[in-house]
Amino acid sequence: MKWPPFAYLRAGSLQDVWRAQADHGAGAQLVAGGQTLLATLAFRLSEPQVLVDITRVGELRGITVAGGVLRIGALTRHAELGRDPLVARHAPLLTEAVPLIAHPAIRNRGTIGGSLAYADPAAELPACVVALDATLVLVSATGERRVAARDFFTGLLETALRPGELIAAIEVPCTTPATRSAIEEVARRSGDYAMAGLAACLTLDGAGSVAAPRLVFFGVGNGPVTASAAAAALSGRALTEATIAAAAEALARDLDPPADLHGPPEMKLHLARVLTRRVLSRFLPAKEIAA
Ligand SMILES: Cc1cc2nc3c(=O)[nH]c(=O)nc-3n(C[C@H](O)[C@H](O)[C@H](O)COP(=O)(O)OP(=O)(O)OC[C@H]3O[C@@H](n4cnc5c(N)ncnc54)[C@H](O)[C@@H]3O)c2cc1C
Repeated sequence: MKWPPFAYLRAGSLQDVWRAQADHGAGAQLVAGGQTLLATLAFRLSEPQVLVDITRVGELRGITVAGGVLRIGALTRHAELGRDPLVARHAPLLTEAVPLIAHPAIRNRGTIGGSLAYADPAAELPACVVALDATLVLVSATGERRVAARDFFTGLLETALRPGELIAAIEVPCTTPATRSAIEEVARRSGDYAMAGLAACLTLDGAGSVAAPRLVFFGVGNGPVTASAAAAALSGRALTEATIAAAAEALARDLDPPADLHGPPEMKLHLARVLTRRVLSRFLPAKEIAA
């Protein structure tokens, strides 16, 4: 199908965005990397009056570290995220996630802000920002507010963004020497959206006890799914094969995956358990020494 007719406006600043929103209201739609939006236009799932191209808005760019927080501008492209040394040092989960997202051509244009705003339930970055306990910085013509990533994803392709708001940046607490994080997924082919995936983050104290575990699944629900029963099975306990098995078992209380094109709920739960064992085993002291 062809795109519907629309006007195009290249914003040079946030002021230009606010002006376009004042002129066109809900008819003004932001475009960043265009990797999702252009497909939705072709399917006529979206029929904006004007596309507001935000890729030249400097306020939405940059990757910085200050006060133990890594700040990533919403316009950071997936490829930039994957090769940035500050991200690799302070949020290695994101570096590890990038090669799992689509293909190089899409990673060269798609942005972290676009991925979080679109909130595809099988996307990697929404799960990562929840696992990292990140905060989203949202801006609008009337000001700025911060929303915890765990509260941002509210349903299938739905977020806490209010009309007129956009994501300006993502703030991630910097990793510490005790932090462990990893992401694994199962996809039919390299570059496909995941059938099921897991982004996990926890801390291990000197005695090998787990604290603050966050196991966040993607591709198994309406958005990122935080597994709290599995986390409870790990919290305060030594990380061993037995606690990992208990966490995998507890997933039956956390996940209620819908059947989809890939298979029935039982298959998704099985994949989630396999991923749990794969991810957590990477943090076993013996495995870390061997690595
Ligand atoms: C073939 C294919 C395979 C893909 N596979 C994967 C995959 O495996 N994993 C994965 O995670 N993604 C995948 N994607 C999606 C890709 O990662 C997109 O880049 C991403 O979802 C959207 O980013 P974008 O910058 O292109 O956003 P756009 O397409 O420009 O915008 C998407 C939506 O977000 C809104 N938006 C954009 N930026 C902002 C902002 N700063 N604030 C508020 N709203 C904003 C837009 O208005 C629009 O509604 C795939 C895409 C394609 C085409």
